[in-house]
This record gives sequence, C-alpha cells and structure tokens, in this order.
Amino acid sequence: MRAPGRSAPQTADIDELERARDQLERLLTGLLEAGTDELAVFDDRLRIVVTNGAFRDEFLDGSDPQGRSLNDLAGLVHDEAMLDVIDLVGQASRSGEEVRAFVRGAMQANDERWLDVTATPMSTIIGVCLHVADVSDLVRAARAGRTDRVQDTLTGLLSRDGLRELLEVEFGRSEMSAMCVVMLDIDQFKVIQHTLGYAAGDDLIRQLAKNLERLLPPGGRLARLVGDTFCVAFHPQSPRDVDRISSELRDMARQPVTVHGRTVRLTASVGTTLTEPDETVERAMQQAEVAMQEANVRGGNRCVTYSPALAEPQEGMLRLWNALRSALQFRQMEVWFQPIVSLATDRPIGVEALCRWHHPQFGDVSPGEFIPIAERNSEILNIGAFVHGRSAEVMNMLRASRIQPLCDFQISINASPNELAWPAFAHNLLTRIKANDARPEWFALDITEEALLQHDDAVRANLHEVAEAGITLSLDDFGAGYSSLERLRLIPVNRVKIDRRFVSTMLENERTDQLIAAIIALADELHMQTVAEGVETAEQAARLRALGCRAAQGFLFAPAVPDSELLAVLRDLSTVRARAW
Ligand code: C2E
Ligand code: MG
Repeated sequence: MRAPGRSAPQTADIDELERARDQLERLLTGLLEAGTDELAVFDDRLRIVVTNGAFRDEFLDGSDPQGRSLNDLAGLVHDEAMLDVIDLVGQASRSGEEVRAFVRGAMQANDERWLDVTATPMSTIIGVCLHVADVSDLVRAARAGRTDRVQDTLTGLLSRDGLRELLEVEFGRSEMSAMCVVMLDIDQFKVIQHTLGYAAGDDLIRQLAKNLERLLPPGGRLARLVGDTFCVAFHPQSPRDVDRISSELRDMARQPVTVHGRTVRLTASVGTTLTEPDETVERAMQQAEVAMQEANVRGGNRCVTYSPALAEPQEGMLRLWNALRSALQFRQMEVWFQPIVSLATDRPIGVEALCRWHHPQFGDVSPGEFIPIAERNSEILNIGAFVHGRSAEVMNMLRASRIQPLCDFQISINASPNELAWPAFAHNLLTRIKANDARPEWFALDITEEALLQHDDAVRANLHEVAEAGITLSLDDFGAGYSSLERLRLIPVNRVKIDRRFVSTMLENERTDQLIAAIIALADELHMQTVAEGVETAEQAARLRALGCRAAQGFLFAPAVPDSELLAVLRDLSTVRARAW
C-alpha cells in the first residue's frame, strides 16, 4: 500500500537501497530500544521493519513481529486497543499526514487505559513511524484529582492543568460530540477578600465550589482555574442545555452565602462557548474567557455566549486587563506628583498623586485607560493601597526636606466610586496613613461627582469617616457631571476642582467664563476652596486669579513628575517669584 502522490524510487540502484535500508534498520533499532514509550517503524508496504522492546512486551508478549504485515499484526495482538492503533497506521499511510489520537482500552474489567498514539508518514523507504505513549496515569490522576498540578488544593476540584489535560483526551476521541465550556467569575470577589479577609475569601470559594458541583450535568467536569474563576465543561444533550445550564450557574452565584458570620450576596459573570468539531481545548477555554470578560464589562451578573465579533474590540482591553493583574507585582506602577499652586502667592500649596503604569510591551498606559479597567476587576483596590502608601512616604520626605512652610501643604489622592463603595476604604486609608507616620490633615481626597450622586450607604459612611478624621474632601472635575449643589450639603466637601475642559475654553467662550465665575462665587458662599485644573497659559491663570480662584494646577506650572524630581520642581516653583503667569 502506498500513500497517494508518493512515487517509488525510479533511478536509485536496488542494491544501494537495500544497503541503506539495513543501515537505517540498525540505526533505528539502537535508537528505538532506548525509549520507554512503545515505538514501531513500518516500511512503504506497511510491513514491520523494527519495533522496540517496550512495544513487543506491551502488545506482543515479547515476540518479534519483524517483516509481518499490518494485517498479521492485527491477528497477533492481545489488546483490543491495539486494533485501533493499527488502524491509525493505515490512516496515516493513506492520507500522507500525521495522525494523532487518544485511544482508550481496557486491560481488565476496571483497569481503563489511555494511549496517546502518533502515526507519522515518512519517506519512501520508511512508510510510517508509530509512537504509542501510555498516558493512563495522567488521565487517572486528573480524574481523581490526585496530584497538586492537576488538582486545586483549596477546593479539591480539578486545576486548570488538570481540566485541560482531561479535555485534551476527550477532544481527541473521534466520537466526541460538541462540548460546552462555561467560565464563571465572581464580580465582587476582591471586595469580599479586602473587606472580610483572605480566610473568608477562601471559605467563600469552597462554598461556591460545592454549590457548583451540585449543578454539574452528568459527565460534566468542574475546575477552579484561578482565584474566583471556575470552569465547567460538559456535553450538552440539546442546544437548549447550553443556555439553561449557564443561567443556572449564574443564578446559583446570586444565592446569599454566609462567610465568617456575614451573609453576602454576590453576582457572577458567565461566559459560554460551544466547541466546533476541530476546536482545540486551549481555544475553547480562551473563547469562554473572552465571553466571561465581556459579561463583566457589561456590568456583571449576566451570561454572554462567545462569538468571533466579541474577540476583536476586546482584544486590546483584554491584554491590558490581564497585564494589569501583575502590574504592581512586577513593579511596573509608579506614583507621580503634580504641584498645585496658590494663585494668591504663586507658591506650591500641595501636590496631586497620579498613578503611572509603564508596561514593557505596551509602553506608558494612561490612567484614563487603565483606571476604568482596574475599577471593573477590583484591581483598583490594590492600586489605591499602593498610591496611598507612596503618598504618605512622599509627604514624609517633603516634610523632612523643609523646603517650604508645610503647615497647610497637602497631597491630593484620587478615589474612584468603586473604591469608596468598599466598606473598609476609610478604615484602611486611615490605618495606612498612621502606619506611615503621616497625619490625615496632610491629605485631600479627590472624589468624583459620580461618587457623590450614588445613594450608597458605604460611600457616604466612608466620606464622613475620612472627613471627620481630618482629610479634606475635594470634588474633582466639577462641572463635568450633574451634581446639584444641594447634594454638596449632604457630604462635607470643602474644595471644588474646576474641570479642565472649562478652563481650556474659558478665554474663547464667554459663557464658559461666566460659568466659572458662578462656580467660584457659589463655592465662596458655601465656604469651599476652588482649584482650577489644566491651566496651560498665563492668560488663563490671570483670568482665574481675577475671578477669585484660590489655586491652580496645570502644565503652566509643572506636569506630574516622579518623586525623585519633585523636590527640585517644588523648589523652582517656590523661588520663581516673578509673575510669569
Ligand atoms: P484627574 O484627577 O482630573 O487628574 C488630572 C489629570 O489632568 C492628570 O491626568 C494630569 O496629568 C492632567 N493634567 C494636569 N495638568 C494638565 C494640563 O495643564 N493640561 C492637560 N491637558 N492635562 C493636565 P492623568 O494623570 O492622565 O490622570 C487622568 C485621571 O486618572 C485623573 O484625572 C484621575 O481621575 C485618574 N487617576 C490617576 N491616578 C489615579 C489613582 O491613583 N487612582 C484613581 N482612582 N484615579 C486616578
Ligand atoms: Mg484628581
């Protein structure tokens, strides 16, 4: 039997060929005997040229089948699985392409075994090389979850590796029907972990694992991939199963759970994909993850089914999302500081701490890009903690340098609505300030109008707690949103930062100028200070001063700089008294 498209040697001398064949046989025998996997080489007519000891012992009770045909071999073997293996050699020879499959056999009633078989068509002299590896131990370990690598130690479920290896075996089976892969991630897990502690987080994961196990369809697999991300894989009996089971999983996550004496209500983002016949396990898992992240981006507490269109716009965001998880760990984040200058004295009266992320491949990623992503995956809590710690250190450094009267010099830190909704926000910020030998009065907290508009008890409690401790509350980007001054009375805000979009157009647009004048007048009436953001020209600074604005921040004075340059920049600003602006 000859593979189509491959012709017999026409010009080679027959003796030469025989000699080459002998040499090759000897060489192969030496090589093959060294291996522990079962190996066999067939010639172009599919007669056995050589087998190694492992092959003969495993399949032929030690007898040597050299020279036998594929059909003879089928009569000799004692293991049924070997018949499938022999069939794969024929397939590889006919197609001219490598064939790989996982073959299941049973030596004894309860002793299932799995063979990883590769049949590779070669040249004209050698027909096919057959490589059989027994992967039964791996499959058994993955199934029973017996090794650390394939088992998640916290829950006893399969790990990512365990699930992948098991699915690879199943995907390799020719009779495999479509497989549904569902990925599930708890939307508020990091908040729980930060609020109730890591032990409570672990407890929660174990409870979720048990609940998920109860929903597993017959024959389905469940794994915990990482943190609070679970994966379920099953063969749907009907197309409706896919929707039904992913909705059940999402609803299960909504059931209240009690951890460490507290009842918490959670939601989950669920992503689903249905595999195509030629799909790889890796791609199926990636697709489910893309769908899960889309569910999270759309606000969580929902199921999304994968479609190729989903992957395109998400790709950039997903890359950032994944990279952000390790940005702090790999020390890619820094905090830079931008001076805030008094318009009455021209001297710096504070700095704003602004987070910077330099990624080795993506370069400098702006906070405008990564902060909204960090807010969605709760990484914002870790970033916030980092910025608060660095800010306290820098304030200590500035005070030690005594470059200016520091009695009312403050550092402004930004807090996004998600951070403020975290019940332990105020407590943790104040603890960190204390631990760094800093004082709450040295800090101002920039909050957004969005946070102010939230009817959230935790946000309000946090804002009152930090204000009572002595931290100044400052309303960032004022004028960009819709906060009514009425709401300002409910929260002890004592500073308003005028949005830079107003400042940039105030000289060209009379209405904007009037609006800024009105904001400053109202702030005065409410005994609030005003800071203009994004001041870039001396004319803007002069106009703001004339309107009675107290302070300003912007490229006219200085951009944000790393702490190593901050002292020099502040010194320059303190000594340059001539009113260039
Ligand atoms: P923001 O709080 O309004 O910060 C001021 C932004 O204006 C900064 O942008 C600053 O670099 C930029 N800026 C300062 N002067 C000028 C100027 O004269 N002209 C112009 N065009 N821009 C100026 P940046 O650093 O890109 O930060 C963007 C936003 O990201 C910040 O806006 C803040 O809302 C957020 N952010 C930055 N760091 C953090 C952080 O650590 N935590 C949180 N939650 N948010 C942060
Ligand atoms: Mg700010």
